[in-house]
Amino acid sequence: MTLLTGGCLCGAIRYEAEGDPFHETLCHCETCRRATGAPAVAWLTMPRASFRFTSGTPTTFASSDEGRRRFCPACGTALTFESSDYPDETDLTAASLDHPALAPPRDHTWSNSALEWFWTLHRLPQREKAPPDL
Ligand SMILES: [Zn+2]
Ligand SMILES: [Zn+2]
Repeated sequence: MTLLTGGCLCGAIRYEAEGDPFHETLCHCETCRRATGAPAVAWLTMPRASFRFTSGTPTTFASSDEGRRRFCPACGTALTFESSDYPDETDLTAASLDHPALAPPRDHTWSNSALEWFWTLHRLPQREKAPPDL
């Protein structure tokens, strides 16, 4: 059993969940990309009964008939996804965890929707900090 804690960028929303994460994945679907502004979103799944918000009140957006996404109304951090098709599960954005290394992605989901340049990212130059002013 693992106690996972996390929250949003501004600190208004905090959450915790206890259990063993599963379905750790990197999702490339267009909905996840637009919901976050990121090229792909790392998710993990926790038992819904073990998940709770410990501070703040997130905003809920219905991204489909079945899906509900929660995010911080102050800073916009994407936090959770829940689907009525999977009533016992809550998906958490791995990057909102305090310790994202506890639940690394194990596969890619919706890989056929990935941005075409995503698969070449490992070839790019790596800078340890922000680029120098030009
Ligand atoms: Zn926030
Ligand atoms: Zn997705």
